[in-house]
Amino acid sequence: MKLRLIHTLLLALLANTNAFTPHSALLKVSSSLLATPKDDLSDPSASESLSNYRASLPLTRSDSSIQQKRTVMKFGGSSLADAGRIDHVAQLIKSQIALGNRPAAVVCSAMGKTTNNLLNAGDFALEGRVNVDALRTLHLQTIEEFQLGEHLKNEINALLDELENMLSGVKLLQELSPRSLDMLVSFGERMSVRMMAARLNQIGVPAEAYDSWNIGMLTDSNFGDATVLPSAPETIRKIFADKIDPGTVAIVTGFIAHDPNGKITTLGRGGSDLTATTIGAACELDEIQVWKDVDGIMSCDPRMVPGAVPISSVSFEEAAELAYFGAKVLHPIAMMPAMRKRIPVRVKNSYNPEHPGTVIKNREEGRLVTAITCKRDVQLIDISSTRMLGAYGFLSTVFSAFEKSKLSVDVLASSEVSVSLTLDKKHSVYSGHQLCDDLREVADVKVKNNKAIITLIADVSRTSEVLATVFQVFMRQGIEVEMLSQGASKVNISFIVKDDELVDAITFLHACFFEDNCLIEMPCPSPEEEYAREFTP
Ligand code: ADP
Ligand code: ASP
Ligand code: MG
Repeated sequence: MKLRLIHTLLLALLANTNAFTPHSALLKVSSSLLATPKDDLSDPSASESLSNYRASLPLTRSDSSIQQKRTVMKFGGSSLADAGRIDHVAQLIKSQIALGNRPAAVVCSAMGKTTNNLLNAGDFALEGRVNVDALRTLHLQTIEEFQLGEHLKNEINALLDELENMLSGVKLLQELSPRSLDMLVSFGERMSVRMMAARLNQIGVPAEAYDSWNIGMLTDSNFGDATVLPSAPETIRKIFADKIDPGTVAIVTGFIAHDPNGKITTLGRGGSDLTATTIGAACELDEIQVWKDVDGIMSCDPRMVPGAVPISSVSFEEAAELAYFGAKVLHPIAMMPAMRKRIPVRVKNSYNPEHPGTVIKNREEGRLVTAITCKRDVQLIDISSTRMLGAYGFLSTVFSAFEKSKLSVDVLASSEVSVSLTLDKKHSVYSGHQLCDDLREVADVKVKNNKAIITLIADVSRTSEVLATVFQVFMRQGIEVEMLSQGASKVNISFIVKDDELVDAITFLHACFFEDNCLIEMPCPSPEEEYAREFTP
């Protein structure tokens, strides 16, 4: 009780210091220029309804001029690469609290490339080598650099010893099942939260580290790609309401969870985003913040197109499609919990916190194209009926064959007598399944490798405009479209091209839709069409 009081006082004190630093002034200038004002709680020109909303938010500090929002903040490996970055994020959390951010929870991924390094350590153990030196150095260096104390050092050393023992077991047994892999990678997040909590406490932000199962993150037993149990959100809500000191920031492991038998599971690569949205939705927080190393969701992968620009807002549906079709910035199903509860998700840059980032929320204005994304290394499969079966029989046989082989398809186009579809690398027809044999009983099957999917997240009520531009550009550059599909979600149009033409294709399209530098003259809607579009509800 006493501790809780001290923590609450400390948080209130923190919020009162640094109130209007130049940092906050900068935030205001840039947000009015770049963010959607309606959604940016730091924007002074916010609408009246937003003021009412603000007035209803609980304030824990005396200066009511700074509005508080209850958030969950998530930091990925790209934000936590080394000791310096752990410190930077801790200072960022502290300054965000001063600006009115009230994080109920901070979700952390493993430091830097730790998850990949743990997976590699597993492979090495199978080959007979057990070595955790690099991981030990990375984590202990951070503790040394900030003198985070003997207690933390012992805790991290104990986890590293447990990891080493586990790897010795793998070496001996020559076995690394999906269940063991989940246990193996869990060490990354278990170490990073303890270090983040220690650094926060050291700089005066009361914080406590939690393994996510202790705050109610329960999943099924699908190791490697587990699904959060429907009962989990209510458990999480109760634990936050009854057991977690509101004056303390809970630092929670992303990505990992427990199954009902208490075994460690993972939510799939990049799963910390989903941990954050699950907590944010369960506790009905005001905003879910996903902090990365880029200024939000960009019009295209910035590593592929240097001219990529940040997008100020996208709808939940658009963000989900972007992630599903390969934008490596968000976990594909992370949007779902936030979408159900209509809680805005903001993608921000931990290296550039003044930038307002991207807000993901309900659909608003229609843009011709919101973003371009791609998936490389896919297989295109053309399945043509040998007409042994009628149209119904043919399609149902094709889909049953995919179901039997448990292969999920990305893009599909069909007619009565043929189906073309794509499978990604992980689900190729050669991955030991019966698919081709089953299909060949009723169809001719052609498998084409080295293809890529380009997906335009676009306003599909304006498909003709989009397609006119795309095809003229492709024709001019001699890029052949091998298949075309418009998603049922009404936000995506996908093209299959040769993988070696992908970068050119995307660069030319990006120049048209985002850089005002198109190879062709963009088709222009007539004034009547513009008028109709503006005034049609
Ligand atoms: P973290 O693991 O820290 O959560 P990720 O590395 O998973 O972050 O995601 C951020 C990276 O995603 C960026 O560094 C960027 O290179 C890449 N990326 C790919 N496509 C996009 C896109 N459309 N918008 C923003 N970033 C993208
Ligand atoms: N550390 C995990 C990964 O690298 C989870 C995450 O970063 O979200 O996939
Ligand atoms: Mg990630």
